[in-house]
Amino acid sequence: MNRQKICSQIKNCHKCELAISRNNAICPEGNPKGRFLIVAQAPGEQEDKADSMFVGPSGTVLRQIITEHRLNTKNYYWTNLLKCNLPHNRKPKQREIDACSEFLLQEIEEVKPEIIVPLGFYASRFIFSQFHLDFPVEKAEFYKNFGELQWTGKFKVLPLAHPASILHRPELKENISEKYAILKTLETYCCWHRSCPMKKFTEKGIIDPSWRQLYCLGNWQNCVRFQMESRGQPHPDWMLPDGTLMEYLKQC
Ligand code: SF4
Ligand code: SF4
Repeated sequence: MNRQKICSQIKNCHKCELAISRNNAICPEGNPKGRFLIVAQAPGEQEDKADSMFVGPSGTVLRQIITEHRLNTKNYYWTNLLKCNLPHNRKPKQREIDACSEFLLQEIEEVKPEIIVPLGFYASRFIFSQFHLDFPVEKAEFYKNFGELQWTGKFKVLPLAHPASILHRPELKENISEKYAILKTLETYCCWHRSCPMKKFTEKGIIDPSWRQLYCLGNWQNCVRFQMESRGQPHPDWMLPDGTLMEYLKQC
């Protein structure tokens, strides 16, 4: 990825009114070939002053979560939906998202991440709508999607709460941090992914590839088969990762 080129475009951008109030337009950071592409909402006041991502209070919370779950930061590329600070932490306007998302789409195209992780409502709504994933009509409903892995046909999407939520509502810390633990699971594939019949069923085209992406190469700790294996319980080969028994797979 030509990081210098995109950074120079961001630094010189005046496509929306946020260019007037910003000190710095913030460039993406991390591994340009990262498996995970993290999309935060926008730089905060301290990021705007320091010209760097995640140096403010939200960044401190995020770094704590990363340490807590021992995430391998070498796997990550970090960026924002909006590259300039939102004055007084106001909500982003649709015309600002429309103007700035061109950069994000260019970054996705170049990084080719395996998993996109939008943080918070606005980044998640943009990624969901852009890649034709179902988005709940009610905002209150959306929060139920945090921690639910999705498959677009090209890459996985894991929406998570923005770390700033913990600053606003510390009582949610445990629940939010638990969802971030899925990132650790996603850093590796299921230990059975090469030998499990799901691979054969996918290659033969008899089950939807999303099963393998969402479980075997995704959140394998959620797989009923995996959980039964871990407890030493027998299970039939024709069981799907959600525990559904598919009789027709007996013949394959
Ligand atoms: S927020 Fe994005 S579109 Fe608006 S000025 Fe900054 S870089 Fe340009
Ligand atoms: S189906 Fe379950 S046990 Fe088998 S590889 Fe996938 S996640 Fe692992």
